[in-house]
Amino acid sequence: MLLDVQNLETWYGPIAAMKGVNLTVAEGRITAVLGANGAGKTTLLNTLAGVVDPFKGKVLFEGVEVQGLDADAVARRGLVLVPEGRQVYPFLSVRDNLMMGAFARRDRDAIARDIERVHQWFPRLKERDTQHAGLLSGGEQQMVAIGRAYLSAPKLLMLDEPSLGLSPMLTQEIFTIIRRIRDETGTAVLVVEQNAAVALKHGDDGYIMELGRIVAADTCAALSEKEDVREAYLGGGGGEGLSGTAQRWKRRKTWR
Ligand code: ATP
Repeated sequence: MLLDVQNLETWYGPIAAMKGVNLTVAEGRITAVLGANGAGKTTLLNTLAGVVDPFKGKVLFEGVEVQGLDADAVARRGLVLVPEGRQVYPFLSVRDNLMMGAFARRDRDAIARDIERVHQWFPRLKERDTQHAGLLSGGEQQMVAIGRAYLSAPKLLMLDEPSLGLSPMLTQEIFTIIRRIRDETGTAVLVVEQNAAVALKHGDDGYIMELGRIVAADTCAALSEKEDVREAYLGGGGGEGLSGTAQRWKRRKTWR
């Protein structure tokens, strides 16, 4: 296993945001964590990335314990987070934003090759190379954020809610590129999403998180066939509804 999370627990003061979380990510696969607002998805990624420290539990990355390490130490090992809300450097050009991802790398040829790859995945970023990233649309900023993370040579790319604020079409486009990144480079992906339909469609393995706990785990294909998952997460009809937009969560449910 590339990533093996064992009994992870994170608190904010008196609030347990995440408890008893067990999860694995295999090499070369897209693992999706689904959950409503406040389920603990961001807490999970921030804990894995070293942004917040867990109260207990283990995070084994390539067999080595990384829980409690600083965020930059975790990133240097190849566990790289694209945070929610993109967070590009607005006054730097698109090119400089991408290069920020590569700041710790020395191999100029490899960096140039990776920029080339990012331009193939996101041709719009090539067109906007010299523009300030803050002037781009939300979708384009998401592309910059993913590109910048890729430039830091991740072994596991962690994406926090990449669909947030994007149109259904752009969301599909972003997820299609996430799959291309996996297919063309073998990079594993851990993505957390409220948009269950899109995550289950594009992911390989899936987890469902509610109130800080994992309540279901299976392949994404198997999860999308489950009656209760369809009912609670896919709006009952399965798939993405008539308009092609994913249905959001309707209600909380206790899973057995
Ligand atoms: P969202 O999709 O809204 O980001 P989420 O599934 O990522 O939701 P988290 O942001 O991880 O959920 O939040 C999990 C729980 O922890 C929520 O109850 C939230 O209110 C609480 N929480 C998150 N951040 C903090 C914080 N800095 N201080 C206190 N409580 C927090």
